[in-house]
Amino acid sequence: MQNDNSKFKIDKIRHSLSHLLAMAVLEKFPNVKFGIGPAIENGFYYDFDFNFNAELRRTECGTTRKSQRKSALSPRKSAITEGDLVEIEKWIRDLIKKDLKFKKEIVSFAEAKKLFKNQPYKLELIKELNKNKEKISIYTTGSRKPVLGQGESVFIDLCAGPHVKSTLRQSSGQAYEINPDAFKLTKIAGAYWRGDEKNPMLTRIYGVAFNTKKELDDYLQKQAEAEKRDHRLLGQKLDLFHFDEEFGMGLPLWHPKGALLRQIIEDYCIQEYLQNGYQLLRTPHIARLDLWKKSGHWDFYRENMYSPMKVEEEKYVVKPMNCPGHILIYNHQPKSYRDLPLRYAELGTVYRFEKSGVLHGLIRVRGFTQDDAHIFCAPEQLGQEITACLKLGLKILNAFGFKEYDIYLSTRPKKYIGSPKNWEKATAALKYALGKTNLKYQIDPGEGVFYGPKIDLKIKDSLGRPWQCTTIQVDFNLPEKFELVYIDQKGKKQQPIMIHRALLGSLERFIGVLLEHFAGALPLWLSPIQVEIINVGSAHRQYAKEIYSRLLENNIRTNLSDENLTVSKRIRDAEIQKVPYILVVGDKEIQNQTVNVRHRGQPASAEEIKIEKLIEKIKKEVENKTI
Ligand SMILES: [Zn+2]
Ligand SMILES: [Zn+2]
Repeated sequence: MQNDNSKFKIDKIRHSLSHLLAMAVLEKFPNVKFGIGPAIENGFYYDFDFNFNAELRRTECGTTRKSQRKSALSPRKSAITEGDLVEIEKWIRDLIKKDLKFKKEIVSFAEAKKLFKNQPYKLELIKELNKNKEKISIYTTGSRKPVLGQGESVFIDLCAGPHVKSTLRQSSGQAYEINPDAFKLTKIAGAYWRGDEKNPMLTRIYGVAFNTKKELDDYLQKQAEAEKRDHRLLGQKLDLFHFDEEFGMGLPLWHPKGALLRQIIEDYCIQEYLQNGYQLLRTPHIARLDLWKKSGHWDFYRENMYSPMKVEEEKYVVKPMNCPGHILIYNHQPKSYRDLPLRYAELGTVYRFEKSGVLHGLIRVRGFTQDDAHIFCAPEQLGQEITACLKLGLKILNAFGFKEYDIYLSTRPKKYIGSPKNWEKATAALKYALGKTNLKYQIDPGEGVFYGPKIDLKIKDSLGRPWQCTTIQVDFNLPEKFELVYIDQKGKKQQPIMIHRALLGSLERFIGVLLEHFAGALPLWLSPIQVEIINVGSAHRQYAKEIYSRLLENNIRTNLSDENLTVSKRIRDAEIQKVPYILVVGDKEIQNQTVNVRHRGQPASAEEIKIEKLIEKIKKEVENKTI
């Protein structure tokens, strides 16, 4: 984990590199117009307009509004391509070696307008700063008297900073402040000016930068590995799901093998819930708008909700959460202390609005299923219930092969409801549970939801990337809004506390992470097809069918391969589909009443074994959830 100081330092380097990138581009393209160039995670970018005048001319010729808008949809022909990035990197390296200084100055509005007179995008920003009565600060990179776009190795940018003092580290005189071997320009993309599609599309050049070459190499290698494991590609290759524009963005369509994978996960979750004292609920996908007004979602969560639809004289919305339905079930009949804790679970599908730009495969979708549950308990049961949630969560995550976590405890934010005393108690209960499960965690001060503190758990995949997964939230708000009560031992009315908890989070996202974690080679217990049977010739088909039936009888998910293809092609296909066991049967196997088994990823390990022995082996592996 980086500390704040080293993060600040590397961000300064990344931001400074974005200026050097702009400077290099300006030297080679004197007419380029600049957008903005910030530091971002792992690197930086800068936006350029290489065709500004051309566009201006087009507008002057009197093109219609409509055709202008159309032209803005595709990146305008840029003066550079990704093939040029290596060359630009070299220019940047040359600049770094010149020991350029970064100098900050505050300038007047008039001065700024003069400096950036040929830079329309910068002028737009300057005018805004002036309007908001903010200081206009510029950074000069280089050592001569600053004139934008002129003179050797001088570049001025509108910028609040901060930056490195110099590209060369002063103290040693040798080392570079910006390591010329630890950055790389990675890609070019189109980006609308200020992210607005009505604006011109600029050319964005991305780069990554680190302190050392080793860090850079490690990052690039990890990126390459991550690309190979991209769950969107694996979803296609393994024929699990696809997204269809005709159906709608962010709404995955599950193919037979994908739907089966989901079912296996759901079945496992439900089995665990039942063994842990949960009861299952089902609630519909739409509900009256008034319900969401009462719950507060319509006020606090509206931007994530879809517009209401009219059903006869009532307004309805598709549900963004499962909580209100569960609450109405709690409230349907009086509850006593003897009923608590009540653990209601539902694999509930919810719909939340996400901008099309942020949708990403299964990780970010518009409709997804939560492994959701709501626990209603007495205040004194809070600690034990949260502990039980965490323990169950860890057990389930372990079964899927996730053993490393980043855990956060989020405490009371500035705006909150409920009494500070209750917040303290709830936070103490969360801490108690983390202590009971021996989990290391960080405190995220003030990051709790307005209705209560929470624990968030991110799982780390095989590349060490963290993914949001489990969340356990204490809620004082909804029990109050819906006037939930139970009768205590003394016959008095009390308000229960509600816990919202999702262990895998969203099944869609979890499956996406699972695919990337295993690079598609799912453990046997999760594989939609566990065994592929391949008969060598038509004379062996009958025997293959017998084995197929025997495996099915033993609940082993099996596929009998298409015999019209060659044996080698069928083996190759099953390998591409990452089937854990491939069985080949021919004369010898019939004679010995055996099968020839190939284990996934170990083609050399093919062995001939009796079918009973194989069934026993597979059953044991599934039962133990061997990874
Ligand atoms: Zn800057
Ligand atoms: Zn909830």
